[in-house]
Amino acid sequence: MTDSVANRRQILAKMAAAAKAAGRAADSISLLAVSKTFPAEDMLPLLKAGQRAFGENRVQEAKAKWPALRAQFPDIELSLIGPLQSNKAAEAVALFDVIKSVDRDKIARILAEECRRQHRKLRFFAEVNIGGEPQKAGIKPQETAAFVRHCADAYGLTIEGLMCVPPAEENPGPYFALMEKLAKQAGLKQLSMGMSHDYETAVAFGATEVRIGSALFGARNYAAAAPAAEAGGQ
Ligand SMILES: *Cc1c(COP(=O)(O)O)cnc(C)c1O
Repeated sequence: MTDSVANRRQILAKMAAAAKAAGRAADSISLLAVSKTFPAEDMLPLLKAGQRAFGENRVQEAKAKWPALRAQFPDIELSLIGPLQSNKAAEAVALFDVIKSVDRDKIARILAEECRRQHRKLRFFAEVNIGGEPQKAGIKPQETAAFVRHCADAYGLTIEGLMCVPPAEENPGPYFALMEKLAKQAGLKQLSMGMSHDYETAVAFGATEVRIGSALFGARNYAAAAPAAEAGGQ
């Protein structure tokens, strides 16, 4: 059995050390526990240890897992970090507190409409395709500031930060550095970047949130997970 509570303690210590090395305050960086493919009961030890921020990639999987946990822990903050189809936007607005994968004009418009319709106040991040990879979601880096402005001006949707997943198998440092620059140019303070294998680097480049899955919960087994998670993700 993976000891997620011990893993969390270690990760928080490494985050604090990386923050200190970068001359940053440890409490300026938060840990998002990425729980995709892991069942609800695996969340309980972490919840009891005080973890409240969780991330899911898929609306259907989150819907099956989180409402019952929220009844027990009302201050859970749930983030959507996977791509969102417009026909799932209504469900996503009902279920999540933060959507970190706003990646195109149409979804920004629909999310703004849904928030008004449901009288819900969510928080939003734009996802940047920082490596310009054709298979990946996200806005083009050079369009970041204009996209953030457009979301506000056209839809009244406030983007408060940026999220990225840099190209796999490459040194992530230069991508994180570019993210930091883009956030500054767009006037944004929040940067969600860094995963299990590169979060200390991300902290060095200004991440305000790291998103950790496998280093907390262990290796993911998509085949054994809920049917909604079967088709993959990363
Ligand atoms: C799965 C996922 C993570 C967590 O990945 P690990 O390498 O397991 O830490 C973070 N961000 C996104 C967008 C993901 O899809």
